Parts: sequence; structure tokens; C-alpha cells
Amino acid sequence: MNDDLRALDARLRRFHALDKIGSLLAWDQQVCMPPGGAAERGTQSGLIAGLAHAELTHAETGELLRRLKGSPEPLVEWAEREHERRRKLPAQLVEDLAEHASVAHGVWADARRRSDFKAFLPALEKMVDLKRRQADALAPGGDPYDAWLDEFEPGMATAELDRLFADLKAGLVPLVKAAAAKADAVDDACLRGRFEPARQRAFAAEVARAMGFDFRRGREDLAVHPFCTSLAIDDVRITARYAEDDAVGGLFGVMHEAGHGLYEQGVDPALEGTPLARGATMAVHESQSRLWENMVGRGRGFWKTFYPRFQDVFPGFRDVPAETFYRAINKAEPSHIRVEADELTYGLHVLLRFELERALLSGKLQPRDLPAAWNEKMKSYLGLTPPDDGRGVLQDVHWAEGLFGYFPTYAVGNMIAAQLFAAAVKARPEIPGRIESGDLSVLLAWLRENVHRHGRRMLADPLVRRATGGPIAAGPYLDYLKKKYGELYRL
Ligand code: ZN
Repeated sequence: MNDDLRALDARLRRFHALDKIGSLLAWDQQVCMPPGGAAERGTQSGLIAGLAHAELTHAETGELLRRLKGSPEPLVEWAEREHERRRKLPAQLVEDLAEHASVAHGVWADARRRSDFKAFLPALEKMVDLKRRQADALAPGGDPYDAWLDEFEPGMATAELDRLFADLKAGLVPLVKAAAAKADAVDDACLRGRFEPARQRAFAAEVARAMGFDFRRGREDLAVHPFCTSLAIDDVRITARYAEDDAVGGLFGVMHEAGHGLYEQGVDPALEGTPLARGATMAVHESQSRLWENMVGRGRGFWKTFYPRFQDVFPGFRDVPAETFYRAINKAEPSHIRVEADELTYGLHVLLRFELERALLSGKLQPRDLPAAWNEKMKSYLGLTPPDDGRGVLQDVHWAEGLFGYFPTYAVGNMIAAQLFAAAVKARPEIPGRIESGDLSVLLAWLRENVHRHGRRMLADPLVRRATGGPIAAGPYLDYLKKKYGELYRL
């Protein structure tokens, strides 16, 4: 390592440590902090975020990057991208965005509760205006949506997303319609009842352990919104919630977050302490959570071993045949709320948001016309009309916080999950049989080798090409859905 690289490495390690301190403050806020701590915590988090930002935008960082230009070191590539992005944004705009996000969040929460879009409109208009200015500053000349997308999925262009989503839409819309027409084919009544949360939690921990989540290097706590955060490769925290009237919602939440957690625990220890010691991009991260939650957890094979265990924990299921249970946990039907949507219809919720975001950014759609545009697309894609804006255009927090460009990563994550799972089974054909016998280690070993250990050394596209032999594509995901739901709904 030469002197310039060593100096850059030291600065990036300070950035990374500050970033992780910020993560700890956020974890504490959602898991332990009494409500009274909120105001001071805002100040504390802001201070840490500012210090981290300063390490990256520091003149010395810029000078070191100039001297290291052309270096193939992944750390230099990462720092160049981050430095460039942050440098292009006027400090005033960054501050205005952060400040307005916290104001708009409060306005949105209140407006959603009262289902009052008009109350949110002025805050939304201001946010869209600020985000348009941000896009202008970041991507003069190119597709302005690239700037929004780049914040969450660096390396992916909007043009590529257009192609992926066109394929997804063409495959998904008819499939969802066909399954909706046969909604009665699947009955999920067995999942309703009373299921003691402590028992759910113990069973979920057993499953997380079987997946390979290491509780000596991680932990699980309760939180209102489940999430995963990594403070170090050997300190990965997941959170969960368990509802008494939902037999499996808590479990699938844990499988999802443990999927994120396994990724973070599996990063090459040589990267520890640097910004490369985390998941590659949002979409790749989401591919890991969805793979475990859906392709494993909602698969028939997994329950061969785990259903008898589940029946021990909840004896009411002794009268429910495994096949009835399998069908119930895969019931798919168009619904209003994205976060409650099933695996089949989920992609259409994302597609709708992506299309509306692009129209907003281009000016083709004005914020005041958003509810009408939302409802029209819901009708066209899912055949539903939201009963009110609270269960329609106001349901997600993202736009209030300025997180435009975030939603697409969820759908791309699903596509990558299907590609990786297919590639894993092709490379190790014994994986489905091992899953049936309760041994999830062969699948994990393949993911460790092909995804986890690389951390942020690569972005999504090279990572997927290397692991699967092809570019990110919607085909394998659509094939997976057609096969699974074709059988479930006898299409
Ligand atoms: Zn996730």
C-alpha cells in the first residue's frame, strides 16, 4: 500500500467508524430509547452525520483521490463515487433537504392518519422541488432519474431499469389477473387465531440459527418496524415484531432480516473497518432477504423439516395438513398496501411508484394530481381502487423523507434473488434436497462464496454476472413466479 492509499484508507476508516456510530444511535432510537430522548437524539445523529460527511468531502480526500486516479483498488473506486456525489451538492441544498425531510415526515404522519392528502400537499411540493434541484445538480445532461436512482443503486442506469420493468410488467400483469380470477383456489384460514408471541419468537430464533445467523456475532430485538443494521461484521443486529393474531408474519420478518444479517456477517473480515465492509448495493441486499424469506421460507421443501417443529410449537396445526399450510402461506391476491403485499403482486406496487416518480421528476405529473394518477394505476395493475388516500398515495414514508429512487431496488432485489437461487441450485444440485432435510448450509456456503464475502468490492451488475453468468434480468424471477403460482392457482 503506498502512502496516498494509506492516508486515504485512514480517512475512510474514520468515516466508516462515524457512520457506524450513527447506526448505533439509530438502532438505539428504535429499540431502547424512551420517547423523551427524541429531540436530543436528533442533534446527536445530525452531528455524527456531519462529521462523517466531512471526512469524505475534505479537501485532503479530494487531493488524495486526484493522486490515486485510475487506481483499480475497490476502496478508491468507492471513495471516488461518494466524494464526487457529495461534492456536487451545494451544502445549502443538503441542509435544506435534511431539514425538510424531518418536517415533512411529521406532516405526512399526521396527514396519513387523517387520510388528508391536501394537508400533505404543500410539504410534498416543496420536497419534489428540492429533489428536482438535487437531480439537476447531480446529473446535468443525463436522465435526471439517474441521480435519484444512484443514491440507492449506484451503477444502475434508468434506461436499464426501464428495460427490466417493461419485462416485469409484461409478465406480471396477466399473471396477477389470472390468479385473482381464481382467488378461491387458496384458503389461508388456518393462519388466523391466537399465537403466543413468545413462542413465535423462540421458533423464529430456531429458524434464524438454522439459516446460519450467528447469535454470538449478532442479536435480535423487538422493534415497531423490523430492520437489520450492522455495527461491525461481528456485531449484526436484526429486529422483529410478533403479532398475536398472525401465525407466520413475525417468522417471515425474521427470515427476511436474518437474510440481510447473514450477508453482513459473511463479509470478508479483511474488509473490516473500511466502508467496503457491507452489502454491495440496496438491490443486492434485498436479494438476500427475499431469497431466504420467499424462495426458502415460502418454499415447500423448507417445511418438510420445519412444519413438524412448527406443529410442536403450535399444536393447533396438528390438524392442518402440510400442503394446506404451504398453500396458505403463499396466498396471493391484489391488495392496497405494499408492505403487506404477497410475493406475486409485490412487483406491481413498485412499478406503479417508479412510474409516478419518473412522471413527477419530468414535470409530466404535478404533485397535486398524484392521488388521481395513483388510483388510476392501482385500478389498471391490481384492479383495485383505494378506499381512501391513507391506504393509497399516502401509505409510504419514502416520499415524505425525500427517498425518491428507493422503491425500484426492492423489485430489482427480487429479480436478483431468483437469478442467484437458480444459479446456486445449478452449481450445487443437492441444495433442494438439503433444504428438505433442514440443512441450509450448502445454500449459505454458495451465497458466502459468490455474494457475501465480496462486500462492496463490486456493484450489483458485475457481482450478478460473476455469480450467475449473465446480467440482471427479469426472466428467472418471472419463470419462478409462473411455475410456483401456476401450480398454486392451477393456471
Ligand atoms: Zn429488506
